[in-house]
Amino acid sequence: MALIVQKYGGTSVGSIERIRNVAERVAKFKMLGHQVVVVLSAMSGETNKLIALAKQIQKEPDPRELDVLLSTGEQVTISLLAMALKDLGLKAKSYTGAQVRIVTDAAHTKARILSIDEANMRRDLDSGHVVVVAGFQGVDEAGNITTLGRGGSDTTGVALAAALHADECQIYTDVDGVYTTDPRIVPEARRLKTITFEEMLEMASLGSKVLQIRSVEFAGKYKVKLRVLSSFEEEGEGTLITFEEDTMEQPIISGIAFNRDEAKLTVLGVPDKPGIAAHILGPIADANIDVDMIVQNVGHDGTTDFSFTVHRNEFKKAMDVLGMIKTAIGAREVVGDDKIAKVSIVGMGMRNHAGIAGKMFKTLADENINIQMISTSEIKISVVVEDKYMELAVRALHQAFELEKEAAAPAV
Ligand code: ASP
Ligand code: MG
Repeated sequence: MALIVQKYGGTSVGSIERIRNVAERVAKFKMLGHQVVVVLSAMSGETNKLIALAKQIQKEPDPRELDVLLSTGEQVTISLLAMALKDLGLKAKSYTGAQVRIVTDAAHTKARILSIDEANMRRDLDSGHVVVVAGFQGVDEAGNITTLGRGGSDTTGVALAAALHADECQIYTDVDGVYTTDPRIVPEARRLKTITFEEMLEMASLGSKVLQIRSVEFAGKYKVKLRVLSSFEEEGEGTLITFEEDTMEQPIISGIAFNRDEAKLTVLGVPDKPGIAAHILGPIADANIDVDMIVQNVGHDGTTDFSFTVHRNEFKKAMDVLGMIKTAIGAREVVGDDKIAKVSIVGMGMRNHAGIAGKMFKTLADENINIQMISTSEIKISVVVEDKYMELAVRALHQAFELEKEAAAPAV
């Protein structure tokens, strides 16, 4: 007998029929003798609908009230699933985040989980219940309802698995696992049987939308056995996120991530002297804007150019900040570009192989794609390109690194 946490995303519970399907899948695991905790998202599109309602009243909805509103989406699905389970003759009980007592900090709309009281869930599991928990929500110390940020049900699932020392956390979604890249862009993309936790963390932070990044961080911290599976297929082992790496089997590149969510700002002709990066990025940080990539050119004539990227939603705000400090920092000009995309290759095997960057750059050059910025870590290389070339870049790289092949090990 195992304790399994299963998280189902919005499309998996998007209609009554689908909720019944989830109930049947859960019932199967129950019949095998397992204890099951189910974490649910709201029906697909529901959270967006609620946000749109709020925005009809307040352009920037009050965060506390927005959380009260958004948490209702998940309350709908958990109660319906509990009913569907009972209809199949199973014992089941639904819980909101506050009823479990998933305690978070007070950062409305992006709260972090501080603690989880497992007593209620344990008691129900021991008496044979399926425990159905609302994802994406918690309660702060003062009793206010909080939410964990978009896609936060993944994090609830992994956090419950950690708290309960579950044998496995299964994330059921509308794809049957983690792919080498998005199959909508590269039809030859291949499902990975395994991916290391570090690679998954990079993929999530670089734009792969399969798992919320915080859920991956949680899985890493508490060593939760995490698997991504399709809720629409009967069989299939999905993708297992692993903690040990097998250097023999390790492909050099495991996947290609991309995102169009960034924008680039460039400060031209600033004095090339100590403190300039701090003078530019200090006010950006003070405005609560996160910076991703940073490039400073080699100076000439005593001046230099300085570029960085931010989330596209914060582009205007960042341009305004630079506009305000432009004269004070002695810059010649400030320019911005929100027609960019970031394309990244990710792989643990990169650590032991030279020449990966060269191969990446040559592949892009052969397609006549200009690289605007580069950043690297031990296991990833990211480039910024003009966004109209993004899909071409992803396809060319997928082919160059032969990711469609099992255990790709291209000669470099
Ligand atoms: N319902 C929330 C959202 O749409 C949380 C989730 O689905 O994970 O972001
Ligand atoms: Mg999701």
